[in-house]
Amino acid sequence: MSSLEVICWHCHGSTVDTEPFCQRCHTILEYKGVPPFELLHIEKGFSIDLKKLERIYFDFMARLHPDRFARASNQEKSFALQWSSAFNDAYAKLKDPLKRLKTLINEEVPDIQSPIILQQAMEDQEKLVQIQRDHKAVQDFEKDVQKRIQDLYASVPNSIGTQQKKEASDLYLRLKYLDTLMRNIYSFKRKHAFTDS
Ligand SMILES: [Zn+2]
Repeated sequence: MSSLEVICWHCHGSTVDTEPFCQRCHTILEYKGVPPFELLHIEKGFSIDLKKLERIYFDFMARLHPDRFARASNQEKSFALQWSSAFNDAYAKLKDPLKRLKTLINEEVPDIQSPIILQQAMEDQEKLVQIQRDHKAVQDFEKDVQKRIQDLYASVPNSIGTQQKKEASDLYLRLKYLDTLMRNIYSFKRKHAFTDS
């Protein structure tokens, strides 16, 4: 974990920039930006322990709860808010597998769809129109899409270095497309008053 040494504004002791509280006097520190994995003390990788993530997140959120800062200065209150919002943001990024993958790729993935994805999107859309009156067929299609999602997630490399970036970006774009497709299927089912049996 890469944390930098900082000087606590309160006790002037030395502490680290990745923790909300000074290691010496436990005063809230100013938030200066910490990457999600470091912030939540989770080892960087696609496979993570979600229970551990949740435990750490809720533990920090409890320690940063506004009630605990009722008698603190406005500056400390504002520091606590900054950390809380950083924890919320990091938690959302790590909890969701698609956002976690994007976080690991760690750069802007071009939002242009590859010709392969566009072709697939057209086929899927056509299929959905063809089978729209057949509830069983729509449900089978949904299962098929879920299977495609599972298979793609299973092929995501755990650690994404320079070597894996291209492959991981492709997987991300395909998963993002399938995520949208699943939403379309859900709204399609709602519109046509499907009930899951
Ligand atoms: Zn201190």
